[in-house]
Order: sequence, then C-alpha cells, then structure tokens
Amino acid sequence: MDYKKCTCDQCGTIFIVKYCSRIMKIGRGIKRHLLVCPGCKAEFTSYYTNTEIRKQQNKIRKLYNAIRMTRNKSLLDQHYKKMDSIRADLERDMNQLRIEVEGTP
Ligand SMILES: [Zn+2]
Repeated sequence: MDYKKCTCDQCGTIFIVKYCSRIMKIGRGIKRHLLVCPGCKAEFTSYYTNTEIRKQQNKIRKLYNAIRMTRNKSLLDQHYKKMDSIRADLERDMNQLRIEVEGTP
C-alpha cells in the first residue's frame, strides 16, 4: 500500500519507505516509527502512534478494503466521506502526539 519514496538528508540516497521503516516502543503505548537510510544508516522519525491512532489506522485499512470491494456508487461515497473524516482526525492526533513527545516546536 505504501510505496512512498524518501530522500536521505544526510547522503542523498533515495529509498522506499516500506522497506526501511523500523518501529521503536517509547512507552505509554506510544510507538516511534523510524526510517533508516540504507546508505548511511541515518535514522529519521517518520511519525508517532499511540493506541488510539493505531485504532484509527485500522479503521482506514478496513475502509480501503471495503472501497476495493464496492461497486455501489453511493456506498463508495459514504466510505470516502468516512475515510476523509478519520484522516483529518488522525492528522490532528498525530501532530498533537508529536508535540507531546518532542515538546513544543
Ligand atoms: Zn543516508
């Protein structure tokens, strides 16, 4: 699903995010999702998740599957609408969590 490419700030290596991600537990149910450059092994924080965020991510995953199965136009619209609203919540929660973990910018 996620074949996003990323360029390393340190050495300029371009790598596929999917194959270079690591997950690190940092306590209180929070996980730090890291990207590791295959060229110079530099680590980048991609995002943080907590239990609530992972629950929302699962919902999105299920919606993706539902969308793939559906040919019904009005049902599709409902699914997309629902996914957009979950995504908006998710983005807000993830930004919030990043600030909680890293401190205010
Ligand atoms: Zn690198």
